[in-house]
Amino acid sequence: MLRRLRHWVETRRLRDSPLRAQWEQAVADWPVAARYQGEARQRLREMALRLILRKYFLSGGGLQVTDTMRLRVATMAAVPVLELGLDWLRDWNAIVLYEGAFIPDHGWQDEAGVVHSGGEPLSGEAWELGPVILSWEDVLAASAEDGYNVVIHEIAHKLDMRSSGGANGAPPLHRGMDARLWYEVMTEAWEALARAEEAGEPLPVDGYALTEEAEFFAVLSENFFEAPDRLSRALPRVYQQLALFYRQDPAKMQ
Ligand SMILES: [Zn+2]
Repeated sequence: MLRRLRHWVETRRLRDSPLRAQWEQAVADWPVAARYQGEARQRLREMALRLILRKYFLSGGGLQVTDTMRLRVATMAAVPVLELGLDWLRDWNAIVLYEGAFIPDHGWQDEAGVVHSGGEPLSGEAWELGPVILSWEDVLAASAEDGYNVVIHEIAHKLDMRSSGGANGAPPLHRGMDARLWYEVMTEAWEALARAEEAGEPLPVDGYALTEEAEFFAVLSENFFEAPDRLSRALPRVYQQLALFYRQDPAKMQ
């Protein structure tokens, strides 16, 4: 009942939202958004607007967070869950935007379950049950279709965290998906990439994927949406598992 009420209140607020008219402009130079046309495009826009109502967009380090920034980040965050639903992004409330790379505060890292570690400046970070933190410079850098997208990367961590084992490289799989097959396909791909890296061969995805299982899933997810042709050619079985999970087939939507 409460959810239906919230949905109704949101729908009324969305109808009058001044952000609606700014959406096209805000996502105009993100090639991935161009892939969604017609009814899918409308759903993407509505989901992005709804996400803006549901999350606090906070400034880190004094950055002035504009409507364009909110729309762009919300749309990038909506793409992976377009066919899953916004419920997959519940249980956390805030998206923090910094102007550029930020250095995380490590004083409270372990208790809160940070996925990333190290004292290096970060482009993004996702906390279990906590915020997604992003560098706006890096959000802008996601405009090129090169497999890089910090927003999709951090959202993938959020989806991964929903499984009972926490962020372990496997989100909760849908009914009908085979967990053993998922594990087999991901392990096989991991080993192939590790061998290629050791041999000094170029990798089809960023070598950062091999840091740990959670990063593997996050980097592959970025590539699934940002460079689907390349991923489906290089790692077709991985692509197929991701298509089953995300319920999208971006290589066919070009
Ligand atoms: Zn990561």
